[in-house]
Amino acid sequence: MKIQLTKKASQKIRKKNPLIQPEDLQTKISDIPKEYLTFLDERGEILGTGYLGKQNKGIGWLISYEALKINKTFLHELFQTAVTKRKKFFQNNETTAFRLFNGEGDGFGGITIDYYAGYLVISWYNETIYALKEELLLTISEVLSDNLGIVEKIRFQSDLPESNWYIGEKPAEPWLVKENGINYATYLDEGYMTGIFLDQKEVRKRLASGLAKEKKVLNMFSYTGAFSVAAAVGGAAGTTSVDLAKRSLDKTREQFEVNQISLEKQKIVVMDTFEYFKYAKRKGFSYDLIILDPPSFARNKKKTFSVTKDYGRLIAESLEILNPKGQIIASTNASNLTLKKFRQSIEKSLDEQGVTYQLKETFRLPQDFPVAAFEESNYLKVLFYEIKK
Ligand code: SAH
Repeated sequence: MKIQLTKKASQKIRKKNPLIQPEDLQTKISDIPKEYLTFLDERGEILGTGYLGKQNKGIGWLISYEALKINKTFLHELFQTAVTKRKKFFQNNETTAFRLFNGEGDGFGGITIDYYAGYLVISWYNETIYALKEELLLTISEVLSDNLGIVEKIRFQSDLPESNWYIGEKPAEPWLVKENGINYATYLDEGYMTGIFLDQKEVRKRLASGLAKEKKVLNMFSYTGAFSVAAAVGGAAGTTSVDLAKRSLDKTREQFEVNQISLEKQKIVVMDTFEYFKYAKRKGFSYDLIILDPPSFARNKKKTFSVTKDYGRLIAESLEILNPKGQIIASTNASNLTLKKFRQSIEKSLDEQGVTYQLKETFRLPQDFPVAAFEESNYLKVLFYEIKK
């Protein structure tokens, strides 16, 4: 089937931005075809091959900038190239979990593959690619024929379970992976999250290799406490991990245990972040390093939190319990928030609080997460601030 795009969209595609938006379609369609499509520009010239599929960003992807067929040969080369690029990762015994295939950044939007010490975690981001998955799975199994098993994650609106074991024997739980020599306990077949966010490896590395040394660390929105573990390995004087989800307590404890770190100086608190700020102030607690890594959007009881609207408040609250010369690590994975806007919202809040500060370091996605030529693709932004007061 052929789908014509508007002039504006065609120009965007020619600049190698593969993400198709609903308003880009010149051909009107009532249902999204579950097949690969040929995309044409406004004059009917071929732009390339791709597919349509509704997901959190956009409504489809251009896969090839030529009119070629997306078949077994094409897919084999695509995955083989991604694997070859990560040769160094496969040879590194200190890091056994990493991203193998990063959607549009590796040339095919709507699918990611993560490697967890032999197992593959494949995420499908829209219904169309899920409908076309057999050929992809077969090819992936061929290219990575020595994998121990494959689990798939459903990352689009559907009645399907979030996690589905596809092939091979399930791993022991927890399944231990290593990153820069640190152990992380993962659960590969439990919802769509595994216990570790692989895109934050540079930040964990920094925490483990000096940044957190002798510091009292507060890790907000801590999930399984991966940042706290890295900080503890890096010689932190103590860590406090705060997360609303009850599961975070056992999972965080386990994360320390698999690294033989005594829990004596590690606090794990199940609480809403904003409640914790109040509690800490009341108790007179203070910290040298505060890590903020909220989800882009969350709801707790009647209150909602959105990164675009509420980050400033997180910063202002943090300043009240930050020791002199303290540091704040501000992170977001919100793809709709540019680095510039994120930085502005933080610095506006810092200015309002009347502190002097310095932006020390900026982290974006690591090497195994290549990005495509549009800003939302490079979603991760982590800023290290030193607050001088
Ligand atoms: N920083 C973590 C990942 C955070 S994921 C890491 O590096 O592994 C976001 C977490 O925020 C989830 O675990 C979720 O339970 C938690 N969360 C969401 N809303 C919250 C709130 N209001 N207060 C505390 N935690 C919250």
